[in-house]
Amino acid sequence: MLVFDRLKSQLDLPEEEQLVVDSVRQMSRERIAPRAEAYDQNGKFPWDNVEDINELGLNAMFVPDEFGGARTSFACYLECVKEITAACAATGIIWATNYHAMKPVIDFASEDQKKRWLPAVAEGALASLCITEPSAGSDATGMRTKFTPDGDDIVIDGSKTFITNGDVADYLLLFGKWSEIDDPKQSISVLVVETKASPVETVGTENKMGHRASSTATLAFDGVRVPRRNLIHNPGDGLKLLLASLNKSRPSVAAHALGIARAAFDEAVSYINERQQSGRKIIEFQGILFLLADLATELAMCEAFLNHVARLIDGGAPDFSTEASMAKMRASDLAMRMTTEAVQLHGGYGYVKEYKVERLMRDAKITQIWEGTNQVHRQLIGRAFMEK
Ligand SMILES: Cc1cc2nc3c(=O)[nH]c(=O)nc-3n(C[C@H](O)[C@H](O)[C@H](O)COP(=O)(O)OP(=O)(O)OC[C@H]3O[C@@H](n4cnc5c(N)ncnc54)[C@H](O)[C@@H]3O)c2cc1C
Repeated sequence: MLVFDRLKSQLDLPEEEQLVVDSVRQMSRERIAPRAEAYDQNGKFPWDNVEDINELGLNAMFVPDEFGGARTSFACYLECVKEITAACAATGIIWATNYHAMKPVIDFASEDQKKRWLPAVAEGALASLCITEPSAGSDATGMRTKFTPDGDDIVIDGSKTFITNGDVADYLLLFGKWSEIDDPKQSISVLVVETKASPVETVGTENKMGHRASSTATLAFDGVRVPRRNLIHNPGDGLKLLLASLNKSRPSVAAHALGIARAAFDEAVSYINERQQSGRKIIEFQGILFLLADLATELAMCEAFLNHVARLIDGGAPDFSTEASMAKMRASDLAMRMTTEAVQLHGGYGYVKEYKVERLMRDAKITQIWEGTNQVHRQLIGRAFMEK
């Protein structure tokens, strides 16, 4: 569709990045999409999709070249998130989570730490971002996981819940509180757990509404030891790093939501151009045209705004937190609306599992909840306009 093609070309990616996006689109359509329905039904972890992603070396696109990567622009990365997600939302979030978890390492870890972890990530290691706890969700500062220094080690006690990739990850980016600092916010610290060297107990994985092939684990840390040199920055620097890393993962989550929204839009448009009632195609009814106009316009606006955020990030803007929240909130609300309307436009067929829109609607819901719920983002955006 010309409107959306023009939006993509507006990004003006260099030729080599466009080739990356094209090959990701081809892989997503030819290999990942055909497996999506079965993975949704059996809920198994899609290892063959991960292998296909690693065959293209996609983790390398967010790892700096000097640590084994082949870094592309953020805009290029976002396009790839959309393509994979449109084929299989679960696979999209599995891959994007590698970026979400490793971005703080890329931005803030020491040279020695980067040398130890990033080459393996570029080669295709899986990673998890571990923030949420049973009693600390929207307010992550309420976390209770404790980091106790002990000689050359740090001893970890506590638990994390709802951790994407948690049971399969090679690296956990783990937030907790430094035992020697009393102030609850000032004590938040962050370290990397190498799960092969420091095994972590998986208490269980969730049986979910959507994203059924991505694993969502509860992890228990019962005296898990990691070397002190795995601490990123200093004790107590965690909150600053947490906020900085969320700013970059939120546009990524927005791209993921737009991948779902675009897939639902394409399915709906194709269906209403075929299906006939009362001797006319469904798309010919005026009430349907009005709805389609609203959905297409909203999708185009969201795509354009995310392109704007990508440019801010690629241009090195120092603070884009409000824009990141806006993109995440709006794209995820659109994903929910778009998928709900796509089901509606399919009539009764939209409600049965044989049609992709049924899965997309279930996949869409979590995008309004994770990476900061949309209520929380509305507060953050509103607060940005409070005069100090
Ligand atoms: C499938 C899945 C994957 C996930 N992956 C990860 C992951 O990889 N890593 C990770 O750390 N976490 C992950 N999460 C956790 C997710 O980020 C949290 O579920 C989310 O932050 C909300 O926390 P909560 O579930 O505890 O809800 P709560 O914080 O208990 O919120 C309950 C309700 O209250 C509302 N609410 C809370 N505070 C406020 C407020 N101040 N103002 C207005 N309303 C408010 C919320 O918006 C929500 O509607 C995942 C969750 C799921 C379901």
